[in-house]
Amino acid sequence: MSPVITVYRMPEDAPEDSLERLTGNIQQAVANVDGLNIKAEDVEIIYYRKINSTRLTAVIDLLAIKPERTTEVLQRLRSMVADCLRDYALSKFEKCKAVSVVIGLRIRPEETTTCDISSLRCPDCKGRGNLRVYDRCPRCDGTGTLTPDY
Ligand SMILES: [Zn+2]
Repeated sequence: MSPVITVYRMPEDAPEDSLERLTGNIQQAVANVDGLNIKAEDVEIIYYRKINSTRLTAVIDLLAIKPERTTEVLQRLRSMVADCLRDYALSKFEKCKAVSVVIGLRIRPEETTTCDISSLRCPDCKGRGNLRVYDRCPRCDGTGTLTPDY
């Protein structure tokens, strides 16, 4: 499981291309934090827009708990993400008065349940259950899915 950063209160009229650039900047900033060992492409970023917004708030969720992710490392992570949001606000978001970044829900990987859904989808009928119209798939008996192998 990889981290998700949710940015709240993005102005409603923030252009898509500016958000794409911001996404790339945040992903790179996270990858650059020493001691974190997270790849840029593993960071997912979600934006929530708001009318008449005057601030940006980012929550970093689903960060795995690891001994090397010390208070100092997490502080660097927050600062790096805050720098990206501040730079964005200075150039693209005139009404922005403040930027905040918090670490949200952290996880213990060993207490996480992940079901590999893609491996359950029947490869013969691609999950549809039918090979052709009215022709039930023999591999999954027409259900489209295979029995989970826990
Ligand atoms: Zn099938």
